[in-house]
Amino acid sequence: MSSNTPRIAIVGVAGRMGRTLVAAVEQDAQARLAAGIVAPGSSLKEADVGELAGLGKLGIQAVDSLTSVVDEFDVLIDFTTPRVTLDNLAFCAEHGKRMVIGTTGLGDDELIELDGHCDRVPLVFAPNMSVGVNLTLKLLKTAAQALGDEGYDIEVIEAHHRHKVDAPSGTALKMGEVVADSLNRNLKEHGVFERVGQCGPRSDKEIGFATVRAGDIVGEHTVLFATEGERIEITHKASSRMTFAKGAVRAARWVSEQPAGRYDMQDVLGLT
Ligand code: NAD
Repeated sequence: MSSNTPRIAIVGVAGRMGRTLVAAVEQDAQARLAAGIVAPGSSLKEADVGELAGLGKLGIQAVDSLTSVVDEFDVLIDFTTPRVTLDNLAFCAEHGKRMVIGTTGLGDDELIELDGHCDRVPLVFAPNMSVGVNLTLKLLKTAAQALGDEGYDIEVIEAHHRHKVDAPSGTALKMGEVVADSLNRNLKEHGVFERVGQCGPRSDKEIGFATVRAGDIVGEHTVLFATEGERIEITHKASSRMTFAKGAVRAARWVSEQPAGRYDMQDVLGLT
């Protein structure tokens, strides 16, 4: 392990992503797991984070506050909820820490609050950390530029497990944004998030979103470009949370060497 191996803390360590992140850090020779944080008052406080992740004892006990481990980590990985994430970002700004944020569902005001800290924190913020999705975003840009203004209707369809709390997914919104930006359209104006009853035919420029919530689906996204006579579907399917977790650990290693600023996975992967 080299001397610049970042020490990583994982917040939400008992969650679906948190447990997978523990396994991903443990698999990465260039990152070191330093701390795991559970929700305040959680019965899992003091549990061994390795045991939470099904890996056996790692000798790191979960804590329920960042303050108690402030001197032990360099980069915080946070996949929790918008409010928790923003409070943790303020903590990182105050204490000179770096951050990787995977939390989705931030509203407009919350995004402004997030940006307010970026002059002090090197931060990777991305609704989807998988390499495949980030390559897909690049493919979508090419497809939108070639097809979008040539009479092709564009729809984004996503599916996730039954526990997901926000919709459409952050990844679906990001895909819609990439397509809209490539076509000089504004997603706030052209995004259609609900069709019900006598809603009339679609307009040429709208970008429609459809959401499926069922069972244990890890994450599936399709962007459809359809016209008379043909359609193109660009699809990404995640079959394991490990793809997001590995991307997040890669982002943590990368951001440990960056100056303050807001970055995304396209920056981490050199796809910009
Ligand atoms: P989850 O509910 O399983 O896990 C969240 C965890 O955060 C829970 O264990 C909860 O107890 C914990 N938590 C809540 N408040 C806390 C606090 N104050 N301190 C510490 N821990 C706290 O959810 P999940 O499926 O792991 O998803 C979490 C987030 O990550 C969601 O926003 C989801 O959309 C997002 N996500 C992003 C990506 C990506 O690649 N960016 C991939 C998957 C999921």
